[in-house]
Amino acid sequence: MPASLTTLSQSSLQDYIDCARRFQLRYIDRLSYPAIESEPALENEKHQQEGEYFHRLVQQYLIGIPAEQISKLANTANLQRWWENFLAQPNFRNIREFGSLYPEASLSAPLGNFRLLAKYDLISIAENKATIYDWKTYRKRPRNEWLTARMQTRVYRALLVHAGAHLNNGNSFEPEQIEMVYWFSDFPTEPARFVYTSAQYKRDWDLLLKLADEIKSASSYLLTDDRTKCLYCPYRSYCERGVKAGDADQAETEMEAEELFDVNFEQIGEIAF
Ligand code: SF4
Repeated sequence: MPASLTTLSQSSLQDYIDCARRFQLRYIDRLSYPAIESEPALENEKHQQEGEYFHRLVQQYLIGIPAEQISKLANTANLQRWWENFLAQPNFRNIREFGSLYPEASLSAPLGNFRLLAKYDLISIAENKATIYDWKTYRKRPRNEWLTARMQTRVYRALLVHAGAHLNNGNSFEPEQIEMVYWFSDFPTEPARFVYTSAQYKRDWDLLLKLADEIKSASSYLLTDDRTKCLYCPYRSYCERGVKAGDADQAETEMEAEELFDVNFEQIGEIAF
């Protein structure tokens, strides 16, 4: 393992689990995207950018910018609909009035030889309970089983227990105090909620330590046997796993395509208000 690899995140760990080769190309060799991830390319790129912009709009709302001012910036059909859907949820419209809000909070903790990092869309602390919110602009509502197994669900909750004491008057949160909520901008009344338990926390942290250890001692990074993972992977040409991008509208591997719309905070630019 090269010395340059010092941090892990839910997305790098998810890549490692999905395909060790992809992890190597993206986080060790740091190759930029050589191939279009999915077709139709332009439409998907626009959706991706709108997703990033939507995150920024919500973040501005959470830090106190008036909703009316933000509404003017929701200037595409998707953005307008997502923003209206957000405001139509009474718990979101009034969210600034209850408890303490930590939008775009970053947490980190040592994990084996690495540092585990996470940036949260929102952590809300109210009535002795911490709720992690994550906004998703997916075009399809994923199944809860799929979300439960995601590294994001596991890392975000575990890291909040492990490294969130400063958000709780210096006391670590008990897993039972934590809930994670995925809110889908196109399915506003169908959020996915995941409570947490001490047993799950132990299982998650053990897994994270095991993965960190495996990554530290890995000497080769095998290509995945599951070729559906390659359909939307930007590294297809390196692996000779196809040149043409997968069609994101094809249903069988739908969530492989939808995760392309996950927002990576490093990609989000500033919006002038
Ligand atoms: S194309 Fe397939 S094998 Fe190659 S990095 Fe991507 S997912 Fe892995």
